[in-house]
Amino acid sequence: MTAESYGPFGCVVTAPREAEPPKRHTTRDDQFRERLADWLTFMVPMFIAELRNASDKEIEQARTDALEQIASHGDDLQYGGKHQASSRTALAKAFAILARADGGVTALGVHACLRPHKDCPSHALISERQQQQ
Ligand SMILES: [Zn+2]
Repeated sequence: MTAESYGPFGCVVTAPREAEPPKRHTTRDDQFRERLADWLTFMVPMFIAELRNASDKEIEQARTDALEQIASHGDDLQYGGKHQASSRTALAKAFAILARADGGVTALGVHACLRPHKDCPSHALISERQQQQ
């Protein structure tokens, strides 16, 4: 990690949903998406910290494991089943791995990154909070 990083837990925030029109009622998919985003913003920083000193080989193995779990049990991830916990954990680990890329990752209502970068959604949140104080 360089001196220009967000620290051991990286930066994990809910991504803005500005492109979506307002809805009149909340659907089951909306509730799932919101709960998953909340869960990811809690879990991804822990996996970022866990993987922060991992070697390239360890990252590759974690990537392969997460990919296999998500590909095999993505239905359990979304709809529940005996592999729900392990597939959601694999998803959080995948976000932690993708956060290492330049510009981080934005998906499923969550943004995660390790270093400050252009157009990071956290910049807007930080300035919004500073204006509220
Ligand atoms: Zn970012």
